[in-house]
Amino acid sequence: METVLIIEDEAAMLRGLKDNFEFKGYRVITAVDGEAGLNAALDGKPDLIILDIMLPKINGYEVCRLIRQENLDMPIIMLTAKGQESDIVLGLNLGADDYVTKPFSIKELLARSAAFLRRRRQGEQDVYEFGKYRLDIAGRKLTYRGEEIELSPKEFELLEYFVKKAGRALTRDEILNAVWGYDCFVAPRSIDRFVTMLRSKIEPDQHRPTFIRTIRGIGYKFEPPESGR
Ligand code: CA
Repeated sequence: METVLIIEDEAAMLRGLKDNFEFKGYRVITAVDGEAGLNAALDGKPDLIILDIMLPKINGYEVCRLIRQENLDMPIIMLTAKGQESDIVLGLNLGADDYVTKPFSIKELLARSAAFLRRRRQGEQDVYEFGKYRLDIAGRKLTYRGEEIELSPKEFELLEYFVKKAGRALTRDEILNAVWGYDCFVAPRSIDRFVTMLRSKIEPDQHRPTFIRTIRGIGYKFEPPESGR
């Protein structure tokens, strides 16, 4: 049974989330402030964390940062207030994987959580399939219905990163650091050009991308069709 830790100080919200996750068959542990939440994360090593940002004692950003500092890599989904893009970017850069904006659909949160947990069980793969595409990591090859699609080395690395981080909201900074490295002098906005190039090769309709989605004000998210959303 997979364990979900919910860190939320609003009693009604916490109860609603707990009931819903338990109903789906998860073991649920809860915490009502950041300090208790951090301890529960470190002691209980949950499989997934739902983390409110505005919390007593230690705020959600700090909780997130401290969890990652301990090398715990379970998915963290932040609960955020509307219209706070810079706050969302901050949380993602501190190690959160995704966010939902209050008021959110519990159904969507459950679906995203299930997708994260499923991918976590699967672990890293040698071959990833999305739509009719097949990305062979070891063979450094992308094919569409068996036919090879030419990618530059950087395009391949970018696609590999997206595919391995499927379902995660990725900021430009995260993408830059992972694909180009910290010591590289590429402007975060240059990523947009690479994404446009990549889309031209894998998106049937570049103006309505279905795999690499733009998250306005934040960054990108790779969403394979089987991600359950
Ligand atoms: Ca709160």
